[in-house]
Amino acid sequence: MTNTYDTIIVGLGGMGSSAAYHLAKRGKRVLGLEQFTPTHTNGSSHGRSRIYRQAYFEGAEYVPLLLRAYENWRELERDADESLLRLSGGLMIGEPHHHTVAGALASAQTHGLEYELLDAATLMQRYPMLRPTPTTVALYERNAGVVLPEATILAHQRVAAAHGAALHFGEPVLHWEATDNGVRVTSERGTYAAERLILSPGAWAPQLMADLHLPLVVERQVLYWFAPKSGFDAYQPDRFPIFIWEIDNGLQVYGFPAEQSAPFGVKVAFFRKGEACTPETVDRTVREGEIADIRAAIEQLMPDVNGELVEAKTCFYTTTPDEHFVIALHPQHANVVLASPCSGHGYKFASVIGEILADLASEGATRLPIGLFDPARFKLE
Ligand SMILES: Cc1cc2nc3c(=O)[nH]c(=O)nc-3n(C[C@H](O)[C@H](O)[C@H](O)COP(=O)(O)OP(=O)(O)OC[C@H]3O[C@@H](n4cnc5c(N)ncnc54)[C@H](O)[C@@H]3O)c2cc1C
Repeated sequence: MTNTYDTIIVGLGGMGSSAAYHLAKRGKRVLGLEQFTPTHTNGSSHGRSRIYRQAYFEGAEYVPLLLRAYENWRELERDADESLLRLSGGLMIGEPHHHTVAGALASAQTHGLEYELLDAATLMQRYPMLRPTPTTVALYERNAGVVLPEATILAHQRVAAAHGAALHFGEPVLHWEATDNGVRVTSERGTYAAERLILSPGAWAPQLMADLHLPLVVERQVLYWFAPKSGFDAYQPDRFPIFIWEIDNGLQVYGFPAEQSAPFGVKVAFFRKGEACTPETVDRTVREGEIADIRAAIEQLMPDVNGELVEAKTCFYTTTPDEHFVIALHPQHANVVLASPCSGHGYKFASVIGEILADLASEGATRLPIGLFDPARFKLE
C-alpha cells in the first residue's frame, strides 16, 4: 500500500484539530479521523469555556508553553477572523501557603510575569460577591481569561480543511499498526496508509495506546452553570475574572465570568473531584447530591452565585499520576506520536500542543520544551 497521506490523526478533539491545522498550514497531506461529530459532547472539550492563565501553579516549566499558546491562539483568531481568547484577568485564591497561590507566585516570579497580590480586604473591595476569610489572599494576573473550546476546534478544523486536510467525522478507528514504511490505520470505513500517525484520542487513550500500559485514569467531572441572584451585570468579563479558589484539604473550586450568549450562565466546578470511569460505563446524569455539594461550596465562597441552576454536564479528565501530560514519540515506533494532554488542564495549551504534534510528526523533534511529558517517567510494563 502506498502512503496517500503524510500524517493520519486519530481523534479530532481539542488536540487533534490543532495538529491538523498546524500540519495542513505547513503543506502536509493530512487525514483526520473522528468517531463523532466536529464538536460533540462525549469527550473532554465541550462546555463552551476553558480557563487560560499564565502564572501556572502546576509548575513554572509550563510557562514558556503558555506564552507560545497565547501567540498561537492570537494567530488562529487572525486566520479564522474570530474572537476566540477573551482576557478577563484571573485570580488564584487561597491561604498564602496553598499550592494554588504559592505555585502561581513562584511561576510568576521565575518568568517575570506581571501580577498583583491582593489581601482579603482588597479582594472583597474589588469583587464584593466574594467571601474570603481574613487570612485569604489572591494572586491576580491580567493575562488570564477564557478560551472557547467548541469555537476553537471548529476554527482549527475549518482552516485545516481550507489548507487541504481531509477530515472525516463519524468514522471510528478500530486499530493501527506500524508498517515497514509508515503506519496503517483501519477504521469502520476502510484502511489508510501514511508515513506518520498522531494518536490524540482523549479519554479513549487507554484503548488506542493499550500497548504502552500508561497509568492513565479516565475521570468523570461535572460542570455547573448558575444564574446569580443579583443578575449577570457584576459577572461580565470586564468586571469579573476567571478564578481558582483552594478551599479546605486541597480541594479547588474554579469559575468563569458570565457567558456572552444564551444561556448566559456563570460556570463553576470542582477542579479535581471526579470518579474513575470509562467512556463506555460513564454515568452522564448529574446527581442531586453532586449539585448539593457544589451549592454548599459556592454558598460559602460566593453566595450570590448560588441562584438557579441553569445547566450541568459531565466531561472526562484523562489523568496521569503526576497530572503532567503525555506528549512524545511512541517508544517503539518513532513515526507514531502520542498525545494525551489532559490531566484536567490541557485545553489552554491546545494551540501550542498542535504545533508540537506537528513538529514531532514532521521533524521527529520539537524545539518547544516537552521533557516533563515524557512517558518514560512512568515505570511502564
Ligand atoms: C470539566 C472539564 C473542565 C476543564 N477545564 C479546563 C480549563 O478550564 N482549562 C484547561 O486548560 N483545560 C481544561 N480541561 C481539560 C481540557 O478540556 C482537556 O485537556 C482537553 O479538552 C483534551 O483534549 P483532547 O483532544 O485530548 O480530547 P478530546 O477533545 O476529547 O478529543 C479526543 C477525540 O478523539 C476521538 N476519538 C477517540 N478514540 C477514537 C477512535 N478510536 N476513532 C476516532 N476518534 C476517536 C474522540 O471522539 C474525541 O473527539 C477541562 C476538562 C474538563 C472535562
